[in-house]
Amino acid sequence: MSQFIDFAELKRELSIEAVAEWLGLDLKRMTNGQLRGACPIEGGDRLFTITPDFINKDGTCGRFFCFANECRRRWPRGGDVIELVAKVHQLKPQDAAAELQKAFQTPQTAPQATKLPEGGLDYLLADHEAVQALGLSKEQAVRLGIGFAPKGIMRGRICFPLRDPEGKLLGYCGYAEGMEPALKFPIKFL
Ligand SMILES: [Zn+2]
Repeated sequence: MSQFIDFAELKRELSIEAVAEWLGLDLKRMTNGQLRGACPIEGGDRLFTITPDFINKDGTCGRFFCFANECRRRWPRGGDVIELVAKVHQLKPQDAAAELQKAFQTPQTAPQATKLPEGGLDYLLADHEAVQALGLSKEQAVRLGIGFAPKGIMRGRICFPLRDPEGKLLGYCGYAEGMEPALKFPIKFL
């Protein structure tokens, strides 16, 4: 069964950092913003890099590059977020894109993505695995207005609503383990 996937749209929706985290890559952020760590295929210290601000030819952001021998031979110019998944899971790009779309449930093909209460960010994913990892069921997350942000300023974070004493939504606090800072508040709260 082959399914149409808009690669460019998918790449625009995804943060390579969030995808690297989803892949379980153990990377550390360098002062220049790059992420570095062992190659997921060949190991080796700090051979694998992700540059989140790298602009690809198609205008999308984020690229990996690996200095390990085999990777360098197979992916001499590194790759974008879809190619990263293709490389790590050893899939064809089409299958990697399908995996990503399933995992991140980007809006274009996610009729089952849960809508959060009125006034909230309508693209938060209440049934994302990062939310499940907190021990929250989809129903609990929906009721609390908590969800994973696949895009926007909280991209790659779990968003928790901030409310005033009347319950009015003021904004979101975004949390992501391993991101810097781990907790992100809307600018007006600082
Ligand atoms: Zn490698």
